[in-house]
Amino acid sequence: MIQLYIPLNFLGVIYREIKQALTDLDKMFTLMERDQEVGDAPDARPLLLKSPPSVRFDHVNFAYEPARPILHDVSFEIPAGQTVAVVGPSGSGKSTLGRLLYRFYDVQEGRILVNGHDVKSLTQDSLRRSIGIVPQDTVLFNDTVAYNIGYGRTGATQAEIEQAARAARIHDFITNTPLGYGTMVGERGLKLSGGEKQRVAIARTLLKDPPILVFDEATSALDSANERAIQAELTAVGQGKTVLVIAHRLSTVVNAHEILVMDAGRIIERGTHVQLLNANGRYAQMWRLQQHEA
Ligand code: ATP
Repeated sequence: MIQLYIPLNFLGVIYREIKQALTDLDKMFTLMERDQEVGDAPDARPLLLKSPPSVRFDHVNFAYEPARPILHDVSFEIPAGQTVAVVGPSGSGKSTLGRLLYRFYDVQEGRILVNGHDVKSLTQDSLRRSIGIVPQDTVLFNDTVAYNIGYGRTGATQAEIEQAARAARIHDFITNTPLGYGTMVGERGLKLSGGEKQRVAIARTLLKDPPILVFDEATSALDSANERAIQAELTAVGQGKTVLVIAHRLSTVVNAHEILVMDAGRIIERGTHVQLLNANGRYAQMWRLQQHEA
């Protein structure tokens, strides 16, 4: 009997591992479905960074489908270690900028340069290792909280995971759940609120510690105390890094080194918060509207 038990038990372990891997792969393929559209050039080189790099969009034109151009002649630069924020109406192309930098898709015209290297000339693996995305909607795996945070860096220890969770201000929430870091989350586990999921994403990104960050702010309304807290955490995480903030609330962008105002795939205004208020154009109008709503 024991002879039978050991192999069966072993099979059980393998089954669980395969099941987990499949759940994750499933999610990854959904996330990366666009991946098939881009590949490494035969002579692709790794991106080697010793410090946060500059990022430049150079006359970028892009369409998901040929018949429907999305970005028109978009040019801007994020100097090394600085923050550029993008604002504009829904559908104006803001999130597309982040997707192109991560190279989910290739641009049709123009270039995207990281420290002067066209992203098309770099290995995807090295490019993506250098970029951390805090997305609008974080996908959680059907696994423990610890797994979901530790996913940011292979081999992260429990102590490192907890440290990242503390910095993202989610540690206390986790330790108050019945199984703490062992609590299952995701569709089949504990459901987290939008703010809690974003904090898990921030903790993941903290562990990954990439030199380039893309914050795609959640459109779903967080209550204002939560919003301010998350904002403070994102600002702390982004210190000294090269950051692209895709913002839905103008309060987020006030301190950015440059703000780009997009409309229908074009940059229609740019400058600092004060410059844009003085220009009294679209940004100033959006600002007055949001102040009024607040
Ligand atoms: P929001 O503020 O609502 O997040 P956004 O400014 O970030 O909007 P994008 O997500 O960049 O806008 O989308 C720009 C346009 O591209 C939209 O019209 C959208 O419908 C379209 N689009 C986005 N993703 C795809 C896709 N995978 N295939 C085809 N069209 C897409």
